Amino acid sequence: MNKNAFTCLVFLYSFNLFSQISINPGEIFSIKVVDCPNIKTREELFINFEGIEYAILPAPFSKEELILNDYCFPIKVKKKKFGESRITIKDASKVNLSKSDSDRAFKESKLIKQSLNTYSKDLKPSLKFISPVKGIISSRYGKQRYINEKPRSPHLALDIAAAEGTSIIAPSSGRVILVGDFFYSGNYLILDHGNGLLSSYSHMSLIHAKLGDFVNKGDEIGKVGSTGRVTGPHLHWSVYLSKNRINPESLLQENFLDTLFNQL
Ligand SMILES: [Zn+2]
Repeated sequence: MNKNAFTCLVFLYSFNLFSQISINPGEIFSIKVVDCPNIKTREELFINFEGIEYAILPAPFSKEELILNDYCFPIKVKKKKFGESRITIKDASKVNLSKSDSDRAFKESKLIKQSLNTYSKDLKPSLKFISPVKGIISSRYGKQRYINEKPRSPHLALDIAAAEGTSIIAPSSGRVILVGDFFYSGNYLILDHGNGLLSSYSHMSLIHAKLGDFVNKGDEIGKVGSTGRVTGPHLHWSVYLSKNRINPESLLQENFLDTLFNQL
C-alpha cells in the first residue's frame, strides 16, 4: 500500500468515527450525498437544503439496539422504551376473524403493501408537514399494543382523537394512490408525496378525495370517523419513508428540519 492510500484510509477511518449517527427507532436522519456518493444509486428520498443535497433516511422500528450497515458508515438505532397501550375491542368478530373476514383482510393487506412500495419520481416531496387534524393525541408511535389483553404488533402510527366529522386535511401535498373501505382501517386513503414518502389515513367517516387526485397541503381529504376496527372516533395516521413506518409526530416538531440537517 502506498503512503497516499494509507493516509486516505486513516482519514476514512477517523471520518467514520466522527460521523456516526445515533438515532431513536422510527426517526428520520439525513446523510450528505457528498459524504456517501453511492447512495445515489438507491431509491431513497433526496432533498436539497440550502444548496446541499441530502439523502433522507428512516431508522426502522426496533425494540433492541440496532446497527445499520447499509450506508457508508454505521448508524446506531438506540434502544428506546415506548410504553404500552391497552385497548378493548367489544366486537368479537373484529378480533377473532371469520374465514371470509380473514381472507378479506389478507387481500387488503397485500393491496396496501403494494401501494406503499410506490416510489414515484415525478413528485417532489416537502418535509414541512402540518397536523392533519385538530384533536388530542390518544396513542403515540411505538407503543406495544394489547387488544383485549393479548399482545399485538406495536402501534407504528399516531392516533389523534377528535369528534366524528372533524375535518382531516393533507399535511403535505400528494397524490391519492389508494382509497377504499377496508376491514381494519375502515374508510382509508394513501397519499403519495413522492420519492418513497407516503402517508395513510384510517377510520374516516367520509372520504373527500378520489383515486388519482392531487391534493395540496391543507386541502380537506376526509372527516374523522370510527369505521373499521376502532374504540372511538379518531384518525390513525401513518407515515412511510422508504417502506418503513416512521414517527409522524416528529414531522410536526417546529425545529424538525433544523434537527434533521444538523445531525452531522
Ligand atoms: Zn392507531
